[in-house]
Amino acid sequence: MSLLVVGTVAFDAIETPFGKTDKILGGAATYISLAASYFTHKINIVSVVGDDFPAEHIEMMNRHGIDTKGLEVKQGEKTFFWSGKYHIDMNTRDTLDTQLNVLANFNPVVPPEHRNPEFLMLGNLMPRIQQDIMRQMESRPKLIMMDTMNFWMEIAWDDLIETIKMVDVLTINDEEARLLTKEYSIVKAAKKILEMGPKYLIVKKGEHGALLFNKENVFFAPALPLEDVFDPTGAGDSFAGGFIGYLDQTKDISFDNLKRAVIFGSATASFCVEKFGTERLTGLSQNEVDDRIQEFIDLVQFDISLV
Ligand code: AMP
Repeated sequence: MSLLVVGTVAFDAIETPFGKTDKILGGAATYISLAASYFTHKINIVSVVGDDFPAEHIEMMNRHGIDTKGLEVKQGEKTFFWSGKYHIDMNTRDTLDTQLNVLANFNPVVPPEHRNPEFLMLGNLMPRIQQDIMRQMESRPKLIMMDTMNFWMEIAWDDLIETIKMVDVLTINDEEARLLTKEYSIVKAAKKILEMGPKYLIVKKGEHGALLFNKENVFFAPALPLEDVFDPTGAGDSFAGGFIGYLDQTKDISFDNLKRAVIFGSATASFCVEKFGTERLTGLSQNEVDDRIQEFIDLVQFDISLV
């Protein structure tokens, strides 16, 4: 098994109704690879940071089995920085600041030994870079999944549409699906997106769960009702990491197995939001993960007999 993850490795400053952080470890690739590490091994990341990025964060990723050979450290430059503030419902947030820094001139180079992954996860990043990564693959991975956000719809629309055409699975949130298609109905939006190229679409709806579509089927998984939600940052990425980590472990890309992967993704995301930043994702035990999956099974199980 092997999974290549591309995306930001970042500093985030987060404000939620429960508190505020200074610069802490964040970034799409960080959350995705940590989440995937609970299901698969052989995870390689491609990203870039500045020389202000502490070695201890890289060591922590390595302890999770994440190979950071493709993480470039640029001397004299600063790490990507993002800052966001959540509204009282914790489902919506405002971006307060995005400083691309080292990302502005990033020309990623996938190490030659990592150019044949079975699964490729293109985390939220400039669409041009996501395309560049796909072109560096020696053969087409079994499955290519990408995430994106409204920021790129605003500043790189054409590149984004081209990138979406090239992937197998697109994952975005409901608001972004509407923005991308100009359709209010998620079902109509899904139809339009599936006509753009991807075989599958995952629409994340925060605390209201996630929908998986292909042209013939739709599947819904709820989010776990949690007593304490401290920080939703990285929930979408943790979902993607759990989802693709499970696929890499099982190698089965049938719709039925993608449904199971949605549950694994949802379970991983439910851990992420329980603490600020990556804190909760850095020390989970296998038992905790297994128990959480069982909670999901129990949550949606019911008996009905139709007469
Ligand atoms: P999520 O909450 O799953 O949407 O992901 C949050 C992570 O995305 C944060 O850790 C940020 O560092 C990262 N992020 C925020 N804005 C961008 C952007 N424009 N491009 C790439 N990554 C971003």
